[in-house]
Amino acid sequence: MANRILTGIKPTGKLTLGNYIGVLKNLKRETERGECFYFIADLHALTLPIEPEELRQNSIDLACFYLASGIDPKKTTLFLQSSVSAHAELNAIMQNYLYMGELSRMTQFKDKSSKMKESAIGLGLFSYPVLMASDIILYDANIIPVGEDQVQHVELTRDLVNRINNRYGEILTMPKAEMRKVGARIMSLSDPTKKMSKSDPKGDIFLKDEPAVIRKKIMSAVTDSGSEVKYDVENKPGISNLLTIYAAIKEISIEEAEKEFVGFRYGDFKKAVADAVINELEPFQARYKQILESKEYENVLKQGAIRANEVASKTLKRVQKAVGLLTIE
Ligand code: ATP
Ligand code: MG
Repeated sequence: MANRILTGIKPTGKLTLGNYIGVLKNLKRETERGECFYFIADLHALTLPIEPEELRQNSIDLACFYLASGIDPKKTTLFLQSSVSAHAELNAIMQNYLYMGELSRMTQFKDKSSKMKESAIGLGLFSYPVLMASDIILYDANIIPVGEDQVQHVELTRDLVNRINNRYGEILTMPKAEMRKVGARIMSLSDPTKKMSKSDPKGDIFLKDEPAVIRKKIMSAVTDSGSEVKYDVENKPGISNLLTIYAAIKEISIEEAEKEFVGFRYGDFKKAVADAVINELEPFQARYKQILESKEYENVLKQGAIRANEVASKTLKRVQKAVGLLTIE
C-alpha cells in the first residue's frame, strides 16, 4: 500500500522554533513519500482554557505557517480537525477501547495537569490520546512525523489498533511515529532541561519573532560553565541545545556541527547559531506574510475539508460496521 502520512499541530499559541524544527521544516519532503494529511488540531486546543478569538487567530496563523513550509496544497490535504465530524464520531467509539490506567500514565497528561487542581482538569485533557488515536486511524496513516514528546501517544495508538484488529479482524492500518534524528526535542533557551513549548512560552523562539529579537534571545540563552563547544546533554544542556538547533537547521549531524566550532568561544558560537536561525526563518516568514495577506488559506482549507471528509467517512463506516452499529446506507 502507498504511504499515508499524517501530522497535526495544536493552535494553542504562537508557534515555536521547536515546532518548526521538529515538524514544519520536514513537511515538504514528506510529500514526496506518499499522500499527506496535515491538520490544525483545533479540537485538541480546547483541552486547556483558551479565548475564542485567540483560537481563531492561532488557527489562521497555523494554516499560513503550514503553507509557508512549501507544501503544494494541490497535492497535500490541509484541513481543520473540526471540519471533519468523523474525528468526534470515531472518538466516541474508541474511548471504549482505551483504559483509565493507560491514559493516566501519559507523560503529557501528567505534565499539563500537574499544576492544576483536580476540579479544574477537563475530561478532554485526560482523554486527549483517544482523540489523537482517532485522528490517526481515520486516514489509514502509516507514517506519523512528530517530535519526541508525541511518540508515547502514537505508541498508545498502536496498542489500540492491535486491540481492535485482534477483536474485529484486520480493519485498521498500523501507524508508526517518525522523529527527526537531530532536533526531535528542542529545549527552552532559558531552561535547557525543559522542552520549548508554545503553551509555556519561557525561553521560546517564536516563528513570528523579528530577526533582532531572535538574535537577542540566542545571545542571552543560558549556557554552562566551561568554555568548550561540546555536545554533552548532562553537563552542558544549554550548549547541547544550541548545537542541536544549529545541526537541525543546517541538516548536518551533531558531530559535524561540533567540528565546525572547535576552538570557538561561546559568544562567537552563539552568533553563528543566531545567523543560521535567522537565515532560515527570514524567507519562511516572508512566505507566511504573503499567504496571510492573500488569504489563500481559506480556499485551501475548504478543499482540504472535502478530501479529508471523503477519506475519514469511509474509515468511520468500516469501524461502525465492524463493531456492530447498524449502518443504513
Ligand atoms: P503545547 O504547549 O500546546 O503542547 P507544543 O509546542 O508542544 O504546544 P504541539 O501542538 O503540542 O506543540 O505539537 C506539535 C508538534 O510539534 C508535535 O509533533 C510535537 O511533538 C512537536 N514539538 C513540540 N515541541 C517541540 C520541541 N520543543 N522540539 C521538537 N518538536 C516539538
Ligand atoms: Mg505539545
